[in-house]
Amino acid sequence: MKIGFDIDDVFFPTAQNIVNIINTLYPDVLLEGIKTYGIEESYTYIPKYIIDNAVERAVEETEEPIEDAIDVLRYFINNKIVSLIYFITSRPENTRQRTLEQIKSNLSDVPFVIYHKKDKTNTIDRLGLDYFFEDRVDHSEKIADSTKCTPVLFDRPWNQNVYEFHRVEDWKGICSLVINHLA
Ligand SMILES: [Mg+2]
Repeated sequence: MKIGFDIDDVFFPTAQNIVNIINTLYPDVLLEGIKTYGIEESYTYIPKYIIDNAVERAVEETEEPIEDAIDVLRYFINNKIVSLIYFITSRPENTRQRTLEQIKSNLSDVPFVIYHKKDKTNTIDRLGLDYFFEDRVDHSEKIADSTKCTPVLFDRPWNQNVYEFHRVEDWKGICSLVINHLA
């Protein structure tokens, strides 16, 4: 079995970190208020440069993964459910080194690879992934349309009211879905 993961808002709580940075200027901004992908569409009164700057800082500074992520990935590896963890991110190329450091500092005992791809589908197809965990609806649609991989939405405020994909609430949900697949 082969499984892949998005990084931002699946492994790291990047949007929450962006909101925390923006909150120093705009305390009323909430993660739950981001109803479509992109904070600027939900909070139109915030200047774009402030959002861009917060995104850049959050990607650079993020260190703590989402709850249970490390334990679940370790469990998959230790129980030989998978032999390698695939991360595929649309983070830009210039974040490659920093992203590697961030993942490595959390998963020093877990074998993983990271691909930086604007379009994830070719890589997912070529690797032959069975499942890909993703927070973006548009990416999930592309994966469903053009690969044999099953996309699974990681529940976030901006992917609500979408019913055509599997959905998990958290990393415990990822763990159950993968284990049930094997049963
Ligand atoms: Mg993401």
